[in-house]
Amino acid sequence: MNNNTTFASLALAEPLLRAIKDSGYTTPTPIQAQAIPHVLLGGDVLAAAQTGTGKTAGFTLPILHQLLTKPLQKMVAGRPRALILAPTRELAAQVEESVRLYSKHTKIRSLVIFGGVNINPQINALRQPIDIVVATPGRLLDHVGQKNIDLSGVETLVLDEADRMLDMGFIRDIRRILKLIPEQRQSLLFSATFSEEIRALAKSSLRDPIEISVAPRNTTSELITQEMVQTEQRHKRDLVSHIIRQSGWHQVLVFCRTKHGANRLAEKLSKDGLSAAALHGNKSQAARTRALTGFKSGKVAVLVATDIAARGLDIDQLPYVINFELPQVAEDYVHRIGRTGRAGSEGRAISLVDSSETRLLKAIERLIKRPISPIEIEGFVPPEPSAEAAEKPTAPNRDRRSAPARNNNRRSGSSSGSQSRSGQRSRRSSGAAPSNI
Ligand code: AMP
Repeated sequence: MNNNTTFASLALAEPLLRAIKDSGYTTPTPIQAQAIPHVLLGGDVLAAAQTGTGKTAGFTLPILHQLLTKPLQKMVAGRPRALILAPTRELAAQVEESVRLYSKHTKIRSLVIFGGVNINPQINALRQPIDIVVATPGRLLDHVGQKNIDLSGVETLVLDEADRMLDMGFIRDIRRILKLIPEQRQSLLFSATFSEEIRALAKSSLRDPIEISVAPRNTTSELITQEMVQTEQRHKRDLVSHIIRQSGWHQVLVFCRTKHGANRLAEKLSKDGLSAAALHGNKSQAARTRALTGFKSGKVAVLVATDIAARGLDIDQLPYVINFELPQVAEDYVHRIGRTGRAGSEGRAISLVDSSETRLLKAIERLIKRPISPIEIEGFVPPEPSAEAAEKPTAPNRDRRSAPARNNNRRSGSSSGSQSRSGQRSRRSSGAAPSNI
């Protein structure tokens, strides 16, 4: 609400304030400052918030506070008081990790439930009293069907990344779940974008919600440098490899449109000596977890992911995102590059765009209401179509070191005025800045 809000002034319970302090947070983010007081009062919330805004703590902290201050006489096994629905396994796991983090000085118990893994450990866990369940809709309904979980005690429902849940076809599952939980409840809906369908879902599931919007809808963070490179589809794999190797980037998330494309790119990068892994829905849960853990720990330098798999990933200060292809849906561009530039740190997003993607690029620029700066990649010479000796850069790489790659976070727009190099194609006649990557 205002800049003077502190966690202490939000009157959260002491064990929560301690956990916040342990996390190193000093002030609430704007969404937290707006959502927490309202949720504490029991109201419903409809929030437009991108990942990276601190929305998870925005709903988790007040839910924990309510659970602490309104304890039940007797807890019943498999009957949660708060239910958080998330679209993907990764996001569900991440949200539950946050719940654990913020509740670590309390006795509150949480559980994450998602598909693709053995159901038995989840069944066993549901035989214990549980306060908060974080779940993906499909597996949750499996448990309902097997009578492992009783949703009639849910006091607070959170629909996290609701737009993505609808994109993934979960609307019928969500409606079924809504029928299983009490009508007298508190509901919080978070979505990065607001389509007609989201509005309809909000209307049918929320009561007099306050509407919160922390970043203007469908805009991207000012902290992210957004650039594009005009190229051809057949050169993209070489180009990605070149960019990452030349710059020495150690943590890059690359988005591909297809699972097959993600696999092929990860293979190519591995062949070029980079530690790369693919993350998509055809991978087993174990492989997905391995890829993600490796990426977070720094063992895997390049994670090549499809949109759905990467949804909601929160990786601390992820510096670089590459769009191997532009997404078909312009809003997905906002989600993709929202992986970087989080919680105040700077980020850089580069999109590789071929001539068939010009229309998509225009749609994205319209949506984010700003142009994406065209740049050129130093030292990259596309391999000849027929030549096998394709890979090595032939141009002398004279000014390769003109700026350290890591600090290459120029703001878009600030680089205008640079000359286009001959021999490289530029989408625009002016403003195409050579980049030393
Ligand atoms: P989220 O948007 O919920 O995915 O959160 C994005 C990141 O912001 C997470 O890594 C949180 O740990 C971090 N975060 C959440 N709240 C704060 C805060 N008040 N101050 C600093 N970082 C925060």
